[in-house]
Amino acid sequence: MSLLVVGTVALDSVKTPFGEARDVLGGSATYFATAASYFTRVRLVAVVGRDFPEEHLRFLQSKEIDLAGLQTLDGETFRWRGEYGFQLNEARTLETRLNVLERFRPVLPPSHRASEMVFLGNIDPVLQQEVLGQIEKPRLVACDTMNFWIDGKRDELKRTLKRVDIVIINDGEARELAGEANLVRAARAILSGGPKTLIIKRGEYGVLMFSEKTVFAAPAYPLEAVFDPTGAGDSFAGGFMGYLTQSGDLSEAGIRRAVIFGSVMASFNVESFSLDRLRGLTRPEIDDRYREFARLTFFQNPKEL
Ligand code: AMP
Repeated sequence: MSLLVVGTVALDSVKTPFGEARDVLGGSATYFATAASYFTRVRLVAVVGRDFPEEHLRFLQSKEIDLAGLQTLDGETFRWRGEYGFQLNEARTLETRLNVLERFRPVLPPSHRASEMVFLGNIDPVLQQEVLGQIEKPRLVACDTMNFWIDGKRDELKRTLKRVDIVIINDGEARELAGEANLVRAARAILSGGPKTLIIKRGEYGVLMFSEKTVFAAPAYPLEAVFDPTGAGDSFAGGFMGYLTQSGDLSEAGIRRAVIFGSVMASFNVESFSLDRLRGLTRPEIDDRYREFARLTFFQNPKEL
């Protein structure tokens, strides 16, 4: 199967209690595609400005990410500046400079239109729909968003949600989107708006996956050192969609395994700034951590089953 992502490719400036990084490689599509590249080939649809460093393009190419859908426009690359307190679960956005993103109109190369698996990364919901409109017959569409778009483009976002199978957002966003403080009730409200499955990311507390009849909970991997949570959500989504694309197994059991692979990729990502930890990973390291997750969550004696 083939996997396509639309999202941002960014230059991020991030401050955490443990350090600071300036104008480093970031963006929702970048984290997603890098995490997913360990499972499958990814088609990336995004925009950068003329200032985007050549070395970052070379890095994405080294991960065999298909850049035919990456546009370069006159102007500056999208920039995001944020910081985290000791409570690392939620970023505080200090500045969002859309730059070339303001003029971005995604045009899918003909080869991309038959993509079967689609991830609408965190980007303007109008653009998410424009991408969806160009895909012929996707097998599975998942999407992400953030408060910036929930506040600014709520109606457009609701239109996107009507057209997707899986929504992957964090707990704060779920509450804000549903206008409901209780997470279970918020999940029900979001599912009533269209999607079949909702995955709520809860930072160091792991994820909850809701569908009409089932709920699945996965912990986050207990790490001693978390340096920078930026991109954790997109790395999760990349591992999740990458594994589903590779396995082709869209059953409940297959989707649960994908949630764990997503959690594995997120856990690696937060171990250092930008994509520093994701860059040099190997598939055996990923599979080892997947098995550690199995041990971490095992609690029932097989005889009791
Ligand atoms: P997350 O996985 O949620 O931590 O996503 C982090 C990435 O989202 C950063 O690398 C930012 O460049 C990107 N980002 C921040 N704000 C926005 C926005 N308003 N739209 C799209 N991407 C954004």
